[in-house]
Amino acid sequence: MRKKIITGLCIAGLMACTSMTAFAADVSKVTIDNYSTSSEAIQKEIAAGIGVLPDSVADYFTATGGKVVLYDGILHFYNNADDMYVNGVYFNESNIMQIKTTEYLINNPNVSIKGAVVHEFGHFLYDEVVPYLSIEDKNTITNMYNYWSKYMPSCTDENETFAEQYKILRAFGGKSFSAEEISVFEHAEELCTKLLNYYNEHGEKLEIGPGVDINNL
Ligand SMILES: [Zn+2]
Repeated sequence: MRKKIITGLCIAGLMACTSMTAFAADVSKVTIDNYSTSSEAIQKEIAAGIGVLPDSVADYFTATGGKVVLYDGILHFYNNADDMYVNGVYFNESNIMQIKTTEYLINNPNVSIKGAVVHEFGHFLYDEVVPYLSIEDKNTITNMYNYWSKYMPSCTDENETFAEQYKILRAFGGKSFSAEEISVFEHAEELCTKLLNYYNEHGEKLEIGPGVDINNL
């Protein structure tokens, strides 16, 4: 779910992170409200989600004031009955990510809190890098949306499709991705590294505009 241009969630678990250090962001990299008071099972899900993110995504989120808020209750997104189905929300203007951590979700086979974390970080990534993606990558995202919107109700627009597919790839190791699709996510993560490096060097975010070419940084 997203507000304005928003959201995402993810996983970790598959590999015990021996060789893939680039994809093993530690949960301590991210500011998380209500983490220490959450159950061990919830903490494990949250850490697993952040654990599949590249360091640059977690670090850029934190550097730019991002915060995850765990909430044991209904997340009010639509302000109607559908709110009970919302498991995560990313507010891109405030850089606040809300994750629903009600205990019954732990044993619900239809919901993955880990997946929700990666999905919401997918929204963060999309919002930050989409202005800098190549025309080819943007076309691939459009094609992904045109395809997946027919099969997945959650793929309601390009941003939601990006977040949902990012979750499936990174959190669950999805095997059905084309090379072009995988490239989009890799390019997005590489751009996030560039944005993080720029931020660390200049103490501010790179401005967006026709005169800015991130590839020349
Ligand atoms: Zn979403």
